[in-house]
Amino acid sequence: MRLSRYFLPVLKETPADAQIVSHRYMLRAGMIKQSSAGIYSWLPLGFKVLRKLENIVHEEQVRAGHIPMLMPTLQSADLWRESGRYDDYGEEMLRISDRHGRDMLYGPTNEEMVTDIFRSNVSSYKDLPLTLYHIQWKFRDEIRPRFGVMRGREFLMKDGYNFDLTREDALHAYNRHLVSYLRTYERMGLQAIPMRADGGPIGGDYTHEFLVLAETGESEVFYDSAVTDLKFGDRDIDFDNKEQCESILEEFTTKYARTDETHDEALFNEIPEDRRRVARGIEVGQIFYFGTKYSEAMGAMVQGPDGKKVPVEMGSHGIGVSRLLGAIIEASHDENGIIWPEGVTPFHVGIINLRQGDDGTDAACESLYAELTAAGLEPLYDDRNERAGGKFASMDLIGLPWRITVGPRGLKNGVVELTSRRTGESEEMSPEAAVARVKEIYANH
Ligand code: ATP
Ligand code: MG
Repeated sequence: MRLSRYFLPVLKETPADAQIVSHRYMLRAGMIKQSSAGIYSWLPLGFKVLRKLENIVHEEQVRAGHIPMLMPTLQSADLWRESGRYDDYGEEMLRISDRHGRDMLYGPTNEEMVTDIFRSNVSSYKDLPLTLYHIQWKFRDEIRPRFGVMRGREFLMKDGYNFDLTREDALHAYNRHLVSYLRTYERMGLQAIPMRADGGPIGGDYTHEFLVLAETGESEVFYDSAVTDLKFGDRDIDFDNKEQCESILEEFTTKYARTDETHDEALFNEIPEDRRRVARGIEVGQIFYFGTKYSEAMGAMVQGPDGKKVPVEMGSHGIGVSRLLGAIIEASHDENGIIWPEGVTPFHVGIINLRQGDDGTDAACESLYAELTAAGLEPLYDDRNERAGGKFASMDLIGLPWRITVGPRGLKNGVVELTSRRTGESEEMSPEAAVARVKEIYANH
């Protein structure tokens, strides 16, 4: 993309009402625009990152054997009356009535709807196990929407639902989700720690939240610092292997890590003192096993091998896709702007032309642009007629992890400069070497 043809409305001023750094940078970098409280338009740069996150979530869900689908945002109140949650959910649910006076709602989550789909179509254990998921906009009429996309009213969530015959199989589905989530967050360059949590309105007492540590996080968390040494890394996973998934769950959830809702001071004090941590975190996902809570209420039954009909065992599993943008920025930025991890960056590399209009410099930039594009990468070429200082400031703000700077002085010696946004270190090399290096960096992303 050439910046002169893109839509990147960068703001020079720091927006007054944005309290946390991710919100400020998302506004300043022209990623989002608020349309009303907690509701945002996703401008091209923000939308690009959102799509990247969605793709990672999709890939990892499919890898785990889960099946994508799409359910609507608007739901009929009747389904929620069946589960009893129409009255229980409270003011966070946006209730709407259509022209016929029928009660509708903008879905805050989809347990009822997916249970209805299941009961209409599945009646035998032979069709199990089954996990369906979608990535869809949700609406929760939060009392205090704030921090930009972190606590929006309209937000994008991946929610998945497992259906199993037995509790044992459903717990395997739970473990499988935990493993796939660990992989998902690591691919996004994030450490998200699974912590024992509370079921809330979804219900169930077997649940973990995934938290990204950050001072601006809304949850208070208590953990053994040894959990931060755990890395998922590049493991070969067989998602059908119950023992393997269970042992990973044990590895990642045995050490003390809890949110304030389930915190137990006595257990916490058993951790050696120098490893006890009280901190804040951003909830980027949650998994629940709730057994037959919805299937019993809504009559989602399956016939087992013995011919008996039993309510299907279920769980639900959510990732806050739009909130993740904020969480990633909170975890990865400096005083000049965002620093995108390679796995989620909107463009792979920036090209800065220091002397726009100089034939040699323009030609060198064009050829870098063409070669990077031919290599399957997306460069963002700042070809505007602007001073170098302004170009550097915008590039730092939008946070591409790599930048190639091209100027007449370097070109005289046959070199351009490759700079890491994270370390600030620059290296001079030939344009060919710069292309090769950038290709190598992204080979695994
Ligand atoms: P919270 O405690 O932050 O209100 P929740 O526990 O009610 O969230 P879940 O029902 O677990 O949310 O939803 C799954 C994920 O969706 C959460 O882990 C979070 O990442 C994301 N999410 C929930 N509410 C919001 C919101 N208002 N804005 C953005 N993302 C949200
Ligand atoms: Mg939650």
